[in-house]
Order: sequence, then structure tokens, then C-alpha cells
Amino acid sequence: MKKTMMTMAIAGALTLGATQLVPLQAEAVGNGPNYGGNETINTSILSTYSEMASYLQKQAAKQKDMELEVIGQSVKGRDLYLVKYMKNPENPTILFLTQQHGNEQLTTEGALEFIKHLGTGKMKGVTDNVNILIVPMLNPDGAMGDVDFPLDDYVASGDRHLTRYNALGVDLNRDHVSKIQPETRALHERVMSAYDIDYMIDLHHQGTDRVINGDELVSGSILYPTTPNVDPSVLEGSKQLGAVVYDTLSKKGWGHLGKYPGGSAETISRNGIAVEYGISTLLFEMRGMSDHEYDSYVLGQKSNGYLIKQTIETLDSTVRAIADGSIRSKDVSFWDELPTQTSRQSEE
Ligand SMILES: [Zn+2]
Repeated sequence: MKKTMMTMAIAGALTLGATQLVPLQAEAVGNGPNYGGNETINTSILSTYSEMASYLQKQAAKQKDMELEVIGQSVKGRDLYLVKYMKNPENPTILFLTQQHGNEQLTTEGALEFIKHLGTGKMKGVTDNVNILIVPMLNPDGAMGDVDFPLDDYVASGDRHLTRYNALGVDLNRDHVSKIQPETRALHERVMSAYDIDYMIDLHHQGTDRVINGDELVSGSILYPTTPNVDPSVLEGSKQLGAVVYDTLSKKGWGHLGKYPGGSAETISRNGIAVEYGISTLLFEMRGMSDHEYDSYVLGQKSNGYLIKQTIETLDSTVRAIADGSIRSKDVSFWDELPTQTSRQSEE
């Protein structure tokens, strides 16, 4: 009885703290309007695949601890890259995966910026204690709109459209059991099976109008593996990974996270990779997409700044928490209080 009372008191205190912070956060998040038919959305401001490739090559030439590897080719023959910081194979290893869905690009922009940070003094010593693997833009054909199906009804302006699917119209994040597409096969053969990976964050974007607590827009949503086949210790690591991200972002004025309402299918990386390789995984869905056929999915580019920052903070905080071991003592009870997001307006 006593214990119940105390738990309730703590829960009450947490709720009160959250309520006080929410108005500021919701306002900051809401500052970036969705497309709504008149916001500026121009895909020309996003890195092209070629720009990304030459950026990575330049960084690799500049940074002595960074290795750049080609792990395969997309359907249309674009090289798929793996960025590696691996000083000691005995260190714990984290993998960051971006843009399995080609129209979810700000996560890649954030990852590229983080790679630059890794070569500067502000990250000094961090890679002595953690190995970092980054696969940016797993779906370059979708990102470049170089696909075998029409994108005429997509809403963004600019020199190209970006689509979720690979060139053959396949959703790569439903291919993690069969591994039929060259992009997913490269990831599994040359990354997942090739390294002893402890943690993975799979970075995505979701619709613009997801809310929690009634009507508060979120800057993103997170979720651990939700298949019943996941090992309990892998699940605990996933929840701790989420705790690092949540604690870091909820301190930011623009950071406001909900829980993603995800299913148990193992064709999705969050579930399948956790089960197949025993890797603690976290799905992170950022607000709004770079392009889509539905207006309500596409976010005005005024939000790009904080969403790129959200990616950088996510990568930076988790890398540091794994390097100093603090992730292993992370309290995961926030997950029990984290509201599951819903859609503000109906979607198709
Ligand atoms: Zn996605």
C-alpha cells in the first residue's frame, strides 16, 4: 500500500513538471507550419545523393579516425555508404540508420553534420570508448526520385521529388525478414552480420499532425521493439537508449516527444533486427516529411533547423552515454508515462 502511494506521488510530481513545461514546447514545435498548400517546400535545399557522397569522401580524407566503405549498390546502381569509427572492436557499438524511406531526409542532413562534429575537438576522446557506424541514405534512388513509377502528384517544388519507396516501389522497412532488395541485403550482409552491434537507432519522419495530451504537436516519436520474441535484456537496452534520447530532447525548447504506436511485425527493422541479431533498437520518427503525395504529411521548411538539430542531439547524446557507460544505469520508467501520439486530423 505504502509503495503504491509513493509511486503515485512520484507520478504526480512528474506530471506536474511536464505540465509546466508543455506550453513553451508546444509553441516552439508549432512554429514550423505544415505544408497546408502554401508553405515553401523546395527540395533543392536538400543534399543530393552526389553531394552527400562527395561530402563523405571529403570528411574521410580529413578525419583520420573515419573510414568510409561502400557496402553495395541501390537498384539504380548508386553506391551505398557505411561510415565507421572503430578504434577498438571490444568497445560497445552503435549503428545509426537514416532514410530507408527516401522522402525522410532531414535525418540524413543531421547525420552528415554529426559526422563533421566527430572530426572536431568538441568530440575529442569520445570515439576511444564507443564504435560508431552510420549508414546514411539507405534509399538513394527514392531520395533522388529516380524510380520506376510516377511522382507527378507529389507536393514539393524543386528539382526533384523524394519518395518513400525504392526504385522498384518497395518499402525497404518491410523487407528485413526476406531481404530481397539490394539495399536491405547490403545492410544485412555488410553491416548487421559483419559487426558486433549493441545498439541501433533507425531514423525516420512521420506525418506533421501527430499530437499528445489532446492537442500538443510533437517534434517526434520514439519506440522500442514491440515483438514478443525480443529478448528481455535487448528490450531493456532499447528502453535505455530511448531514455537517453528523451532526457536530452525534453530539455530543449523545441523537443516534445510522444510514443509511436507501432506493431509487432518483424519485417520492420525495429523489431526484426532486435530479434535476429540481439541488438537494442530504437525507432525515432521526426515530424513531417520532405515530400509526399499527401499535403498533410509534408512539413514546411521553416522547421528544418530544429529537426536537423534533433537528429544531431540524438546521435551526440547516445554516443556519449554509451562511451561513458551511463546508458546502462538509465531509468526506463518514463516509458510508462509517455503518452502515445495520435493524429490531429484524419489521414488516408
Ligand atoms: Zn520512414
